Formats: sequence, C-alpha cells, structure tokens
Amino acid sequence: MKPNLEKRSLYSFTVEELRDYFKENGLSKFVADQIYDWVYKKSVFEPENWSNISNKVKTFLNENLLLTLPKIVWDGHSVDGTRKFLVAMSDGKTVETVAIPAKNDRLTLCVSSQVGCAIGCTFCHTGTMGLTRHLDSSEIVGQFLTVTRFLKEKVGESERLTNIVYMGQGEPLHNFEHVKKATQIFMEDKGLMLGQRKITLSTSGLVPQIEKLNDFPPVNVAISLHAAHNNIRSELMPINKAFDLERLLKAIRTINLKAHRWITYEYILIANYNDRPEDIEALGELLDKKDSKINLIPFNEYPDSNFKRPSDERIKWFQDQLMKRGLITTVRTTKGADILAACGQLKSEMEDKLNLWD
Ligand code: SF4
Repeated sequence: MKPNLEKRSLYSFTVEELRDYFKENGLSKFVADQIYDWVYKKSVFEPENWSNISNKVKTFLNENLLLTLPKIVWDGHSVDGTRKFLVAMSDGKTVETVAIPAKNDRLTLCVSSQVGCAIGCTFCHTGTMGLTRHLDSSEIVGQFLTVTRFLKEKVGESERLTNIVYMGQGEPLHNFEHVKKATQIFMEDKGLMLGQRKITLSTSGLVPQIEKLNDFPPVNVAISLHAAHNNIRSELMPINKAFDLERLLKAIRTINLKAHRWITYEYILIANYNDRPEDIEALGELLDKKDSKINLIPFNEYPDSNFKRPSDERIKWFQDQLMKRGLITTVRTTKGADILAACGQLKSEMEDKLNLWD
C-alpha cells in the first residue's frame, strides 16, 4: 500500500535529513536551509526562481528528487469562507483538504492522512469507502503546500494558513510514522515554524498507537468519542469492539498531559440517538473535568445518511447540561455545507465528473 513514487519527494525531508542527504552526495549541507527557506518560508516552489541556489544543485535536485506538489483538481468556495479542495497525488489517487477560516485571522487546514479509511465509522462517508492506501509524509505536507500556493496565486496575502488539524480522510494514528514525520516538518524552525498548539491530531481511538503518543510531537490531541455507552459507540464506530471505552480511557491516561495540555473529546450529536439525558450523565461520569474539553459536532447530513441533525434548541440544551456538570463544552458550527462538506462526500461526487482515472 505504498504510494507510487519513483523518486523520494523533497517534501518528505526534515531539515536535518536534507542536510545529511546533501552532505552524503558531496554538496554543501547549508543548501538544505536555503531550500527550506524558499519552499516553507517564502512559498516559492519553482527551482528556477531560487536565486541563491547554484545550477549544479538544481540539476542534482531535478535528477534525484521529486519536486512536484500534489495537484488541486477541484476547488470550491463556501459562502462562509470555507474552501474545499480535491487534491490528486502523483498516482492519481485523490483526497479532500479543507481550509476553514475562524476568528483572529485563523485559517485552519484540515488535512487527510490516508486515501479512504479502514475504521468504517457508520456516520462517515469516507468510512463507506474502505482504505485504499496510506499517504506518504510528503503527500500530507504537500496538501499544505499546494493549498498555500493556490492561496498565494489566486487569493493573495489576505488568506494564509495558520493551523492544521488531522481531521480529513483517514485515521492519522493508523499511519503513525508518516503523520509523525509530516508533523515534524510542519514544526521545523527553519520552515513553517508551526507551534505545537497550532496542530491537532484527531484519532478514533487506536489504543496501541495512543499508548505511543509520548513518542509523537506534543501537539493537541482530540479523541473521537461520539458516545459514552459501549453499545452505542460500537454501533457508530466498529473500532470500539476492539478497544472499548474502558481501554480507551486507560490508554488516554498514559498521555503526558503536561506536554499535551488537555484532551478534546469530539462528540457528533445525532438526533434521538446520543443526545439523551442518560448520555449527559454517562459523559459526566466518564470524563475528568480538569483536563477534558468536549466539542459537540451537530451531525452533518449527507445524501442517504441514516442519521439526522438535532434541532438548535436540543444542541443548546445538551451543551448547557454538560456545562452545569463542570465540563467545558463548545459547539462546532457546520462549515462549508454548500460545498459538500461531509467527510468523503466531495471525493465521491467529483471523481466521476472529473474523469480522474482516464
Ligand atoms: S470518521 Fe475518521 S476514522 Fe471514522 S471512518 Fe471517517 S475518516 Fe475514518
């Protein structure tokens, strides 16, 4: 399930790796810092425009590394400012990437970590597709860079990506090493310099990988909880049959919270299903009030989905009840509903129209 890359991509190197690579090939290791500066700080991706890089290095790069970025094959702009992209990798496989604006000029890129997903959550459109393959670290970094280039060329300085969430297609911890490497590249001081608070890793609850999180950069962690009862969670997320709530919470307690600060619990709120008084009681008993935050996500309906979004009054009531029990609770507003924002929906609808496999 490896990507079909004949050459290693330039965007899969940390600075240190790139320095070593140049040194091993008889070139100055300081060129690595200059290239990082062009790509990640100046967002200049064409080697012919790298004025302080010699022709000898440019020829070496062209012959030995893949310099192309994933290609945006479709983009949509919502009335609320959300931009959605369908991004094709070098083997033609596509993933969704979404840029979501927020207060204080924040622009968060929701990146995908896999083509499809093996977890099979029943509320998720991507979950119906199964896993095609993992993304390489350069393909994860590449989503950020190709959207950066799009914004620079088509929109201008008014929109710059500031944050990253691993909440696109795929289970990031199922692709642990590539997501870890991409995160290290996002955080490089010589490059994008994204702070650990600007990156959020979201997981469906892969317990063995959660237990390895102290070996991952100390970014924000979000757990897709979605239910506080095992029977409901198993219906929504088959992974709960392998790792139930007790095992999940035990694994979460191994995370060094001094580094990660707190855990955000994502909770998709579904009408007449997990929005009942007994769900509020169970959440209050399950979660530790001092280091937990709950993020309620009203269900985003898609064609043929079995679930419904609760009313605004019900959502507000659910939030208030949790707050009364001392749990910090926010409600995520639905973004980009007019541009097929449900996870995986765009990919399914657009691939046929774009004839991507011709
Ligand atoms: S919600 Fe996330 S983990 Fe679950 S099937 Fe969809 S992409 Fe996979």
